[in-house]
Amino acid sequence: MKISEILAKKKTLSFEIFPPKREEDTFTLIDKTIKKLASYEPDFMSVTYGALGNTLSNTAMIAKTIKDNTKSEPLAHLTCVASTRGKVDSVCDELQNYGVQNILTLRGDIPKEADAPLFSDFKHASDMASYIKSKYDGKFGMAGACYPEKHPEAESITSDIEFLKVKQDAGMEFFNTQLFFDNEVFYHFLLKARKAGVTVPIIPGIMPVTNYNQINRMIQMSGCKVPLKLLNQFDRYKDDKDAIEEIGLIFTSYQILDLMANDVDGIHIYSMNKSGFISKLMDNISYVASGFFK
Ligand code: FAD
Repeated sequence: MKISEILAKKKTLSFEIFPPKREEDTFTLIDKTIKKLASYEPDFMSVTYGALGNTLSNTAMIAKTIKDNTKSEPLAHLTCVASTRGKVDSVCDELQNYGVQNILTLRGDIPKEADAPLFSDFKHASDMASYIKSKYDGKFGMAGACYPEKHPEAESITSDIEFLKVKQDAGMEFFNTQLFFDNEVFYHFLLKARKAGVTVPIIPGIMPVTNYNQINRMIQMSGCKVPLKLLNQFDRYKDDKDAIEEIGLIFTSYQILDLMANDVDGIHIYSMNKSGFISKLMDNISYVASGFFK
């Protein structure tokens, strides 16, 4: 089923997972993480796609595992970086054979040490979405990425949102956001996007805060704002792993409760393959979530 059809009826719960770097960890991901996450009955689970396509077969294979073994729809990520039309065709054919009907079309992160021609056939996510839509006659449900604090390369939030409309016109039926920690930023972004004619669902992407170093890396990479309250708590307890996890769990739980109270289109959680933390998070929000996602 296309995820857009689910979104037409209800608010969605979804998790992002990534194919592990080490082959031996793939079994644990499938046997433990996916099983555990599936127990929360997410509407969809998205599977990331490595830069330069180095997890190409893993992404499709993990998407197939989700399709075959859970009630969730898989959303396979696919990037333009180093993709030719022929390569996109072979991935789409493989996904179709596996019964995977949804693709998150992305430009992709550009690796610093890249030497291959990066944009062989598609420069932007919208170019690839238009191509897949026409080549596969609308059979795939397509989604895209958006950035409440603007994409780092965008001139301004206004121009970034103008291109979001281009992405919608190219056939993307909903958007998952980049992580953010300040819900006010998301609400402002949503208003601007709606004003600019972006009408499809925009699902906030939430990164659970579990680890001081990891969160610092994320902040640097995405350039997102972190509320001073949270920063102060992190600085105070940065050497205490358990304290950071407790602070993170409460912060993320409250962030999601606030988004649900503001009637957002769905909740997408960057699980980081950490099903233990996600279980605690889902337990924390279980009462409100049971009404929100029904
Ligand atoms: P685009 O939509 O192409 O946008 C890139 C820049 O170009 C923006 O500044 C935009 O304003 C501008 N732009 C957009 N369209 C046009 C146009 N038609 N003409 C001119 N300018 C335009 N990366 C991975 O490698 N693998 C993943 O699995 C992955 N998953 C992600 C999931 C989510 C939810 C998010 C938010 C990001 C993900 N990324 C992933 C990272 C993403 O690939 C990068 O952020 C990348 O730099 C931009 O991708 P995009 O699809 O937003 O690009």
